[in-house]
Amino acid sequence: MTEKIRNFVITAHIDHGKSTLADRFLELTETVAKRDFRSQFLDQMDLERERGITIKMQPVRMDYRGKRDGNYLLNLIDTPGHVDFSYEVSRSLAAVEGAILLVDVTQGIQAQTLANLHLAKKQGLKIIGAVNKVDLAFDKDFLFELKQKIAELIGATPEEVLEVSAKTGKGVGGLLEAAVEKIPPPQGNVSGKLRALVFDSSYDPYKGVIAYVRVVDGKIKKNELLKFFATSASTEALEVGVFRPKLSPTGALETGEIGYVATGIKDPSLVRVGDTVFSKIDETTKPLPGYQEPQPVVFVNFYPEDSNKFEVLEVGLKKLKLNDASLYFIKERQEILGQGFRLGFLGTLHLEIVKERLRREYELDPVVTIPTVRYQAVLKTSLSGQADEVVDIFSPNDLPTPDKLLELREPWVSGEIIVPNNYISGVLNLIQFNRGLAGNVSNISEKNVLLNFSMPLSEIILDFYDKLKSVSQGYASLSYQVSDWRKGELVKLDILVAGEKIEAFSRIVPKEKSYSLGKLTIEKLKEILPREVFAVPIQAACGGNIIARVTMPALKKKLGDFGKNGGDRTRKMKLWKKQKEGKQRLAQFGKVNLPPSVFFEVFKATK
Ligand code: GDP
Ligand code: MG
Repeated sequence: MTEKIRNFVITAHIDHGKSTLADRFLELTETVAKRDFRSQFLDQMDLERERGITIKMQPVRMDYRGKRDGNYLLNLIDTPGHVDFSYEVSRSLAAVEGAILLVDVTQGIQAQTLANLHLAKKQGLKIIGAVNKVDLAFDKDFLFELKQKIAELIGATPEEVLEVSAKTGKGVGGLLEAAVEKIPPPQGNVSGKLRALVFDSSYDPYKGVIAYVRVVDGKIKKNELLKFFATSASTEALEVGVFRPKLSPTGALETGEIGYVATGIKDPSLVRVGDTVFSKIDETTKPLPGYQEPQPVVFVNFYPEDSNKFEVLEVGLKKLKLNDASLYFIKERQEILGQGFRLGFLGTLHLEIVKERLRREYELDPVVTIPTVRYQAVLKTSLSGQADEVVDIFSPNDLPTPDKLLELREPWVSGEIIVPNNYISGVLNLIQFNRGLAGNVSNISEKNVLLNFSMPLSEIILDFYDKLKSVSQGYASLSYQVSDWRKGELVKLDILVAGEKIEAFSRIVPKEKSYSLGKLTIEKLKEILPREVFAVPIQAACGGNIIARVTMPALKKKLGDFGKNGGDRTRKMKLWKKQKEGKQRLAQFGKVNLPPSVFFEVFKATK
């Protein structure tokens, strides 16, 4: 019986009120007792509460008494609003039939509104439009225009776009009723062979990996033997249940239902988001479409601030990965910084979150290198007519030497920016400065324009978003996705201190920016490196040529008086020896006590 089930998501640009609306739904359906209530109930991570963003979606089942015809089972999935997590958004969309598209009346349609709408449409979801925050002062004409625009985008009439205040609860009951009425019940073959979509997972030390599933056909019962298609892992369903929003066992999940299966599996990599679960005994069933590995796009290295913390760092990362399948890491050794990890992230917010969680949960403050993207090196092949060999480059130090390198390719993104008219020229300049190409500009409302653009991913991941916000006084919004590979005029920039290359500072940069970035780096280093008793040259180099150089002056120290008979050999020897020790100390400074701050400051200064 799927007729009384409704599965839906709330989708919106960040801060337009998804989590707050979900709270009202929980209240209205009495899913969470009033006394247990804290706002943004579904944002369970402390970090989410503090930052007010949703990182991890949290499904919830609600019982709802329909105005016209009895009891319904509602499954709501709250989705992350940030670009970095669009893979999670797309998986949650695959698990439902409908979406509430929420737009803040004081902000209007933003880049993420469109990006999420696009995903929801692609998934064939029934979309219900709503304007939120109508308790705030707003322009009546703007509201009218906004409702028309939303209606146009989702294929409805302006009257069908509802006005709500998630904060006060105004209109929320009507919205929920509309969702029940308009969103179709799940389809599926109730008596068919089991097929369920894994749309998320978490980890429990006793129950192992908890797979969050949407049953598409058939049913899952406790103790049943299950098989995961992509990984061929098989297991027994230790526990089966639903989200209230706490896990509550039900013994079975029927066609159309959303719930969880405790798998007992200890290795999280065996349960992948997007994979299909079916019955072990029947392996002829076809998997559900759309499985995709989450693709890390931003890479950095983490080194423990202190080499004896390496194990703690490893444990911390492994634990974080249990609940964050998209986190990727492998061990990586580096000359000065020692043993560490190379990590891959979905974006820079994802990186920041992991860094912050390590700090809070494990008291770790690792040295983090400059974020980079994956490049492709096309190698010269010795035999003519042979296909070009392409290798992935994750770190500048893996680059083949110029004699072997035919060309370097870098990933590009295509994206959309929504911005008020009067900031458009600033935005265009910023795009150009970041090697981007501006495309079409069209009006999205009386005030706002929609701009299409493309740009190298490496330019976007540093602080493009912050800069975009600042040239538009906070008004611009951005969405993008990785689109293709293009040849780049790229070079490797190295930094040498006292003649020695500091690998952690090496990076792949656009040729046109190599000089300015090199100069910026060495000047920053001159400012922050502790002085030595002798002068230290700091150099920037490209392909073996020094392109910029500064000298960090020596500490002014009294060396005693050997000016008069400057030929005093023993004194001179002593001085040299001291200088040599000094030089060793500098290296030591790198090996043992390299303060993370030096790296942070350089990275910050040279973004
Ligand atoms: P999300 O990022 O879409 O999940 O948005 P949140 O639910 O976290 O809301 C973002 C901010 O808007 C929070 O400070 C909410 O308190 C506020 N907010 C949400 N809905 C309303 C509303 O209807 N009226 C007003 N005045 N504020 C709201
Ligand atoms: Mg939220």
